[in-house]
Amino acid sequence: NLPIIYVVTPTFARPHQRAELTRLSQTLLLVPSLHWILVEDSAERTAAVAELLAQSDLPYTHLNVQTPLAMKLKDSDPNWLKPRGVEQRNEALRWLREHRSPGDRGVVYFADDDNTYSVKIFQEMRYTQKVSVWPVGLVGGLRYEAPLVDNGKVIGFHTAWKTHRPFPIDMAGFAVSLSLLLTHPNARFDPDAERGFLESSLLGQLVTLRELEPRADNCTKVWVWHTRTEKPKLKQEDMLEKQGRGSNP
Ligand code: UDP
Ligand code: MN
Repeated sequence: NLPIIYVVTPTFARPHQRAELTRLSQTLLLVPSLHWILVEDSAERTAAVAELLAQSDLPYTHLNVQTPLAMKLKDSDPNWLKPRGVEQRNEALRWLREHRSPGDRGVVYFADDDNTYSVKIFQEMRYTQKVSVWPVGLVGGLRYEAPLVDNGKVIGFHTAWKTHRPFPIDMAGFAVSLSLLLTHPNARFDPDAERGFLESSLLGQLVTLRELEPRADNCTKVWVWHTRTEKPKLKQEDMLEKQGRGSNP
């Protein structure tokens, strides 16, 4: 009866989606007492994702909510123009509040589908009183961003980008106890948050800096990386399609 780790993953259809979700799901298989909440950015839950989940051997919940068109990135937009996965993470919070009660022990982690996770980071987060934090590799224009720890307490942050952020912590760098989310029923990510302030928009409603619980050897280890996947090049598909022999989607 370990506390359950609820892993919340926004995801959207694209050529490499199955590759991302395969890698992530097989990492999550290495973690005991874990429940995957996969939230599609789509009008309907897709058969492709439903099938992947059904075959994953993981306990899971399959949700969907479409990002409003005005907030959605166009293919030509740089990826930082608009926040990504916000409505989906909030939908998972809504589901947890509806389906879990204060007596349930657990922790919630927002795990994007393209990052790289060591199994160690899941061990670190399982026993979280309020909010636990740790370094994230390859983010913020640095080798890593990390909380600075003194005497077991977070006293600041190693960061270079928008250092005035209240919580300069990437989505992959913290986990929140389920009970804290249930006792703050209105806490959620702000879809209108300024770029870089999405994490702060949630955490500011839940904790103070002094309450953060440092993990990963007092935040000296990097056990999760903000990797990003190169867009696959599918130029030849157009040509084959014109010839009537495009790859089966
Ligand atoms: N995402 C989404 N809809 C989108 C774009 C992204 O649901 O239109 C998801 C994506 O699959 C990922 C998360 O939101 O799990 C964060 O997106 P991304 O990895 O592109 O953000 P970044 O790496 O730039 O922080
Ligand atoms: Mn990403």
